[in-house]
Amino acid sequence: MAPGVTGNEKKFRALVEDFVTTTADLGGTIDPEVVATELHERIRAIAVQLGVTEATVLRNYMPDDWGRDMARQTYRQIQERDAHIDAEPDQELPLHAVGRLIAALGQAQLYYTVNDGANDPTCRFNAKEASEAVTGLGLALTSPPADSLMVTVGGNILAWTQSALSVFRDNLQQQHWTSCPCGEDCGQQQRDAAVLRAVRDDLTLLPETTLA
Ligand SMILES: [Zn+2]
Repeated sequence: MAPGVTGNEKKFRALVEDFVTTTADLGGTIDPEVVATELHERIRAIAVQLGVTEATVLRNYMPDDWGRDMARQTYRQIQERDAHIDAEPDQELPLHAVGRLIAALGQAQLYYTVNDGANDPTCRFNAKEASEAVTGLGLALTSPPADSLMVTVGGNILAWTQSALSVFRDNLQQQHWTSCPCGEDCGQQQRDAAVLRAVRDDLTLLPETTLA
C-alpha cells in the first residue's frame, strides 16, 4: 500500500478500501495502490489550496463515503464513455492510412513498455484498448472491397486509436516518455522529436468525426 496520510492512517485506508470494494461490487477491478496514490494526490492538492495540513484535509474535508461515491462516479463515467464509443459510426479509410495507424500504435506500445507505463499510476495510456485497436485495424485490412483502396473500420476501433495516439502524443510532447530512458545523451531526444512529428501527422489521418 502506498503511504497514507500521517495521523489518520485508519480513515485513509478505509476510504481506499471502500473505493476498491464498491468497484468490485460494480463488476470492476482496481489496484488499491492506484486508488491510494490518487487519493493522496487529491488530499495534497486540497491542502495546498487551503493552506492546511494533509491530516486536517483528511479529517475535515474528506467525507466518510468518499470511496463509495467516487467509485460509483468513476464507474458511471466509464459506462458513458463506452456507450459513446459504441455509438461512433464506422468510417471508410484509405488502405495506407490504416497501415500507418497500425505502425503508430506499435510505436505507442513500444514506448509504453520502455517507459514502464504499466507501473505508472498517472499513465493514461490504455494498453488494452490500444491492442484492440491494432487488432481491429489489422482485421479491416483483410477484407477490403474488391478494386477499392478504401477499407471500412469500426467506429469503436477508430475511437480507441484516437485515444491511444493522443495520449502517446501528449506523453512525447511533455517528454514524459522517451525511446531510451538511459539518462545519457544517446540521441533519444532527436528520435523522440521525430516520432512526435510522425504521430501528429498520423492523428490527422483519422476522420474528423472521431472523438477523443
Ligand atoms: Zn539511451
